[in-house]
Amino acid sequence: MTPTGSAAAGQARPVIDLHAHSSVSDGTETPAQLVAAAAAAGIDVLAITDHDSVAGWDEAAEAAQQHGVGLVRGIEISCAWRHTSIHLLGYLPAADDRPLLQELARARDSRSTRLERMVERMSADGIPLTYDEVLAQVAPGATPGRPHIADALIANGTLQHRDEAFRSWLADDSPYYVGHYAPDPVRAVELVRAAGGVPVLAHPFTRTRSGVVDDALVGRMREAGLAGLEAYHRDHGPAEVAHATELAERLGLLLTGSSDYHGTGKRNRLGEHTTTPEVLDAIEEASSGATAVLRP
Ligand code: AMP
Ligand code: FE
Ligand code: FE
Ligand code: ZN
Repeated sequence: MTPTGSAAAGQARPVIDLHAHSSVSDGTETPAQLVAAAAAAGIDVLAITDHDSVAGWDEAAEAAQQHGVGLVRGIEISCAWRHTSIHLLGYLPAADDRPLLQELARARDSRSTRLERMVERMSADGIPLTYDEVLAQVAPGATPGRPHIADALIANGTLQHRDEAFRSWLADDSPYYVGHYAPDPVRAVELVRAAGGVPVLAHPFTRTRSGVVDDALVGRMREAGLAGLEAYHRDHGPAEVAHATELAERLGLLLTGSSDYHGTGKRNRLGEHTTTPEVLDAIEEASSGATAVLRP
């Protein structure tokens, strides 16, 4: 028998990326294309985490089997807190949990009305844009978001990249910004837990945001069942990683790392930040088992 030590030494650690978007929200690739891209990038386990939607799960699961990629089925819930939008990742919730699905549907409906109002404000101010042009950028049934407005402006030749739109017209403090219905973050943690899923606060200390998540909020989310913080992420510098690490030690939270890949919609590359297999195991153990990690 091979001694475990040498067997382990001969085996590369799996590459685990727990945050990626498809065209079911604001990514530019279909769920199947996203999984294919992950396989090509050498990712062993990918999480599909579309904004406020589980609609990409089945297609991603089929592609994951084909490409031999492990799949964590998840979501990224937009939450409203003190006039800022904060994001909660929910891993492995039951796909048929009524309260969770109803909350996601309510958020998606409100996102549609909100985009229409943003387009009204922008076109009234002379920005060349119609709501139909924006709708043409949203895949059928997908969660609409500001990136689709950016895509319409790229399609009609006004801009070159989503980044430009977010630095100006689409910024959180832009006069064209309109909010949408979103649950309170503590309520979102409760919903994910009640659905048997595992809540992890996405990029908690993103610097580009107008408001900043404070430790007291994370503490309240922890009491409601928060399991981890996404510490290793493009939006975090060394100070933010240190803050997340200190907070996680104090509150007993897991630390994850992920790309937050959006296809060509963002500069983030698959696997640019990763999560350890030990943390993925802990996430799986903390879930109710209603939705399993799919392994090839
Ligand atoms: P919304 O969900 O409508 O509030 O839009 C927020 C989404 O816009 C986030 O999920 C990001 O994926 C995307 N986003 C934010 N900033 C940028 C940026 N600078 N470039 C591309 N996408 C961005
Ligand atoms: Fe996004
Ligand atoms: Fe996010
Ligand atoms: Zn994301």
